[in-house]
Amino acid sequence: MHHFTMKNGSLYAEGVSVKELAREYGTPLYVYSTATLTRHFQAFDSAFDALDHLTCFSVKANSNLSVLRLLADLGAGMDIVSGGELYRALMAGVPGERIVYSGVGKKHAEIAMALKAGILMFNVESMQELARINEVALAMGKVARVSFRINPDVDPKTHPYISTGMKKNKFGLSIDTALDAYAKARDLPGIEPIGMDCHIGSQLTSIDPFLEALDKLLVFHDKLKAMQLNIRCLDLGGGLGIPYNEEDPPHPKEFGAALTKAIDGLPLKVVLEPGRVIVGNAGILVTEVLYTKQTSTKTFNIVDAAMNDLIRPSLYGSFHRIEEVEPKGRAAHDVDVVGPICESGDFLAKDRQLPEVRQGELLAVYSAGAYGFTMSSNYNSRPRAAEILVDGDKAIVARRRETYESLVANEI
Ligand SMILES: *Cc1c(COP(=O)(O)O)cnc(C)c1O
Repeated sequence: MHHFTMKNGSLYAEGVSVKELAREYGTPLYVYSTATLTRHFQAFDSAFDALDHLTCFSVKANSNLSVLRLLADLGAGMDIVSGGELYRALMAGVPGERIVYSGVGKKHAEIAMALKAGILMFNVESMQELARINEVALAMGKVARVSFRINPDVDPKTHPYISTGMKKNKFGLSIDTALDAYAKARDLPGIEPIGMDCHIGSQLTSIDPFLEALDKLLVFHDKLKAMQLNIRCLDLGGGLGIPYNEEDPPHPKEFGAALTKAIDGLPLKVVLEPGRVIVGNAGILVTEVLYTKQTSTKTFNIVDAAMNDLIRPSLYGSFHRIEEVEPKGRAAHDVDVVGPICESGDFLAKDRQLPEVRQGELLAVYSAGAYGFTMSSNYNSRPRAAEILVDGDKAIVARRRETYESLVANEI
């Protein structure tokens, strides 16, 4: 459910005409909906109301400060994976005790910054990282709260690039070595182990893999209890999928109910790290048709958004629904929607049945709110798109379009 709807034959983001936005701010243009973000966050967060829980939005899905501020004001914590994301989370007003820090390669300065901010916990992914955190904490006269990211070896049945909890992945510690890791952590003066963590992958369309991982973690929890460790946080990561096309992912309520049943009565605070499910369908990418081109075998719609703006189709072969901003009702035909970048991998859709469109018309690329702008780049020296946040009949520029000056600002 989102708030991008047709009114009198033209696409609106809540009460704002997308065509007007494109006219005013240019294309390619990211447009986010406040009502959708709010609804998605509240639907997710309330699914776990029966549990002591903290919903930490995964900043890497959409790190725009206005989006973070909105979610922070709704009570969200943040899941960060870098010093830059910590900086953004703090700037958006998220209190340190609502921040968890994941990622396999945390640097000294990033660890120090997180300790200074008093984050809830580090999700530790290796023994060397644990030693590094201990060292930094001792030097600062602090004790770092940690959980280990446990790799439960569960197949999330998603794209291999976004599957993270199998033995062959770089993430976390295997469940058989984790017990030893907790024993070592307990003896380090700069470390306090308080939690268990896993994140098995992204765009999951069934809750079974989550429950399989949870079962393994709960068995593991019993062993930690036997070691007299006071483990009080259970972080189950993110990964709940969204409908891009025909997918039918479970509602967060289903996940919430299953989780509530499984950890009933255990003294654990549940941490969740949703990204895509909050922002994915709360954003669109608006693009203008520059040219249409017919070759002997194909029709191309050449648009002004490219793989540098939205890399998911190129990187994962992902499907994004594409529709006209003002449908003209022309006959559909088979086309590739491609950008101006000098790569054959630069496409937004391949062999897609789309109505015929003409130069100057606008297309909306749906489900672009997650891993859209955050994965964008300046490849081909293309300034990055502007981001607009709509709220009712108001629109604010949440990020200005980059200029040629900003492209070279850091160069000598
Ligand atoms: C990417 C990531 C998430 C968010 O994943 P979604 O699929 O967007 O919900 C959560 N936790 C960690 C550790 C991640 O790397």
